[in-house]
Amino acid sequence: MKRTNKEYLLLVLSIFAGVAISLFAILRLSNQEWLVGLFDVIVGVGMASIAYHVYTTQKVAFPSIVLAMLSCAAAVATVYVKGVENIYWTYPAVVAAYYLLSPKRAIYLTVIMLALLAPQMYQYLSLFSFLSSITTILMTCLFGYFFSTSVLEQHQMLSELAVTDALTGAGNRRALDHKLVEIVSAQSRNPSTVSLLLLDLDNFKRVNDDFGHLVGDQILIRISEIIEGRIRVTDTLYRFGGEEFVIVPLELDLDMAFQLAEQLRILVENYDLVTERKVTISVGVAQYKQGETSESWLNRADEALYRAKNGGRNLVCAAKDEV
Ligand code: GH3
Ligand code: MG
Ligand code: MG
Repeated sequence: MKRTNKEYLLLVLSIFAGVAISLFAILRLSNQEWLVGLFDVIVGVGMASIAYHVYTTQKVAFPSIVLAMLSCAAAVATVYVKGVENIYWTYPAVVAAYYLLSPKRAIYLTVIMLALLAPQMYQYLSLFSFLSSITTILMTCLFGYFFSTSVLEQHQMLSELAVTDALTGAGNRRALDHKLVEIVSAQSRNPSTVSLLLLDLDNFKRVNDDFGHLVGDQILIRISEIIEGRIRVTDTLYRFGGEEFVIVPLELDLDMAFQLAEQLRILVENYDLVTERKVTISVGVAQYKQGETSESWLNRADEALYRAKNGGRNLVCAAKDEV
């Protein structure tokens, strides 16, 4: 399976640190420096365990926390055990904390680390070195914090964009596919009543031809807003294709979902979206049948929608059990 960037970073960091610290451990122990040697052994074993865990499970959340804590603990212990001139180990520990943890957790960890280091630094460094060290560590924290919050913000924005339809703000096809897979697999474990609506704007090509594509776009936006305003927050509107939408997961049986579709149809019909033209929708309603695939569920709704179109449009039809 493909490994993520974070997995590689955790593997490289923990293997590199594990090997380096093990060499230090051998050196210290052969010099009979038992305390420092034991400390190196503990950190080395910790690093090796992280590497093994990430390599075998591909999980990064818990190892990230352990590695960040271990790095900061090692930096503090180094200063206490080996002397305050080793304060420079604090900087990579700060960077590791902000890279590996959420910004908030990284603040907690680095503040605790600084609080533990400050007395030792104050005691053994000149006032000038003490102030310089504190300032540079805080600056590194500040950069780490702003870097990690901006990365997080961009990540959230990109994740949002990846599942959103750019025109209407409804969920896109990718989000719908994902949702349907989720619903079908949840149904196989825990069956319940769930329905979907497949909506299609009537004669929309003619609306575009008569009023222009931009007006057509505005109508799609308005209809999305009208529907969003009427459905529950747990029900999501997805743009299935050009002028087709899906609403799912409605925790309603076929009759109730049909009633909701009928209300939406009337709501859209009564809206003055363009002058001197009724914009209407047709809807296919399908309740999920235990054991069927998401394709078959959608196909049944599509077949119902087809009947609604054939029945004269501005109409709701319920799906049959088989297509
Ligand atoms: P029907 O009642 O049978 O659904 O007729 P229709 O004209 O709506 O159906 P058809 O599939 O023939 O045409 C769909 C039209 O939807 C074609 C295209 O001009 C329009 N459309 C699709 N996506 C967009 C869009 O993003 N913006 C605009 N303005 N129009 C779109
Ligand atoms: Mg269509
Ligand atoms: Mg249409």
